Amino acid sequence: MMTAPKTLPIDRIGRENRATVDREVLIEGTGIHTGEKGRITLKPAEAGTGLIFKGTGSRIGDIPVSPFYAMDGVQAVTLGNRHWQIKTVEHLLCAMAAAGISDCIMETTMGEVPILDGSSLPFYEKIIEGGVRDLGEPMEALQLSNPVWVIENDRYVVALPSDHFKVTYTIDYPHPMLRGQTMTLGLNAENLIEDVLPARTFGFLRDVEELRKRGLIQGGSLDNAVVLTEDGYLNDDLRFEDECLRHKILDLVGDLYLLGRPLKAHIVAFRAGHSLDISLGKKIQTRIAMDELATRKDRIEQARQAAVRTGV
Ligand SMILES: [Zn+2]
Repeated sequence: MMTAPKTLPIDRIGRENRATVDREVLIEGTGIHTGEKGRITLKPAEAGTGLIFKGTGSRIGDIPVSPFYAMDGVQAVTLGNRHWQIKTVEHLLCAMAAAGISDCIMETTMGEVPILDGSSLPFYEKIIEGGVRDLGEPMEALQLSNPVWVIENDRYVVALPSDHFKVTYTIDYPHPMLRGQTMTLGLNAENLIEDVLPARTFGFLRDVEELRKRGLIQGGSLDNAVVLTEDGYLNDDLRFEDECLRHKILDLVGDLYLLGRPLKAHIVAFRAGHSLDISLGKKIQTRIAMDELATRKDRIEQARQAAVRTGV
């Protein structure tokens, strides 16, 4: 039975309870890669449901949000089952993380999450406008006992045990606007909303033609992306001086929310990206499952020894 709707305050990171959307939230738009138009409806769900994409029409079966359902992480994160796929889930997931949504059915008429303005802010605003419902059950954050990392040539992403969710991100690309920039952010909800959610996706003008030929960025434009020219920006409305760096943090937060739970870790990323983030998510999930199993075995062993001592 549903409890009475209760709208929560904006600060949800570090929250203690599971939460869902209070009423249906409609997100309409165009996919940046497929150019497909359609809608996704976020629907309330019971505690323990998790985050699930539900297809309509020929899209059969559910796709749970999990790094183990990730099929591609080159230009964006694609989740899929044997029957269908949903692309570019990361910006919606970052907004879900900021709003503290742990349980939600995301019913979709399309194979890609709409790009909206290229950031996570419009998703977040729609979720908050509809309200967030406290489900009254505790939401345990994922806590690491040891560091976990993924290294690929000169790129890496490391998760260090920490009491808070924190990111140190460094980018260094051969472009005058993207050389050697670093930022460390403690990611409480306020920082996320002000410093991360508004940062838009970005791309290089020199890659546009090639990506279009490969069937990508069919829905991309200056309305939903920051475009870098050889020595500057094509847009004249940057939201932050370091918008691209902040968007990399946004992507990382969204990618790690594939885990579906808040993460207490200090993430240190250098020139990382979706595929590294997904690999890190898989490692974290596996490591935590192993830790939990070890703890359970310890408890069983302690109980056995206590039983032997008392002669039960
Ligand atoms: Zn992105």
